[in-house]
Parts: sequence; structure tokens; C-alpha cells
Amino acid sequence: MPYFVVHEHHSKRLHYDFRLEMEGVLKSWAVPKGPSMAPKDKRLAIMVEDHPLEYGKFEGIIPKGHYGAGPVVIWDSGKYELLSGSIDEGKVEFLLKGQRLRGAFVLTKLKGKDKEWLLIKKKDEYAVTSYKPEIALTEEKLKEIKERIPPCETE
Ligand code: MN
Repeated sequence: MPYFVVHEHHSKRLHYDFRLEMEGVLKSWAVPKGPSMAPKDKRLAIMVEDHPLEYGKFEGIIPKGHYGAGPVVIWDSGKYELLSGSIDEGKVEFLLKGQRLRGAFVLTKLKGKDKEWLLIKKKDEYAVTSYKPEIALTEEKLKEIKERIPPCETE
């Protein structure tokens, strides 16, 4: 079963990078407000470049002067199951089996837009009425990841 990961990325502006393992890479979307477990929240998700599968495990600090400089931590991860659709069709439905994100979601591309999608929780037993993503970057976590070398420095 493929996996998903959500990176909490404290760059100039905090956002969440939602990544799905697909076709041997991590298909990635930047979600400014973060994923929601509430079906009423339609989260803008901007498609960004594919990332290598290994990047899913990355936590660390992207150094100053590099694109996206700032701490990156894993906010959630787990297996997922594809329910229907595909990237090419502009609609993908899937079941997430993470710690924070569970149940059915849909990513749907906005008509006439190149990179803009919406990430929406579908109604199921995991759905809630209101949701705010909890910050994963604690003081301890920051201390822990300071030592790690980001992939962009090792290439
Ligand atoms: Mn990012």
C-alpha cells in the first residue's frame, strides 16, 4: 500500500506540504491552511514539484538562502488507499490511514487553473464539524532536528 506524508513547513509563511506516493514519486501540494478533518473546509492545495520518495522521511532545517528556508517536520504520515480517479483526471479520491488524518478525502483540480486544487475531507465516521491543525514543531522537536542535514545540502 502506498504512503502519504504531510510536512509542516515553517518557511516565510507556515504551510503544510501534502504528499502522496504515486508513480514512484511523491506528488506534492502546498496547503496554506493545512489539511482539515471537517468536510466544510475546502483547503486550497497548490501543486508543487514531485519529490523523491526518500524525502517523505525528511525532517530538518532548510538553511537560509535556500528555497523554503526554515524548519520542516512530519505533521502526519501513514498508508493510504486509492479509491478512484487520477492526477490526469484532475480528481483523486483516497482513504488516509494516518495518526491525524483518517478516512476519505478528495483532491479536486479547480477548473481553468493550472496548479490549484482543493483538498476536502469527505463525510464519513472520521469527519468532524470544525478542525484546526495542531502545530507539530515543539521546542524539543526543533532541538532534535537542528542536527540533521537537509537533502539539498547533501546533493
Ligand atoms: Mn513547503
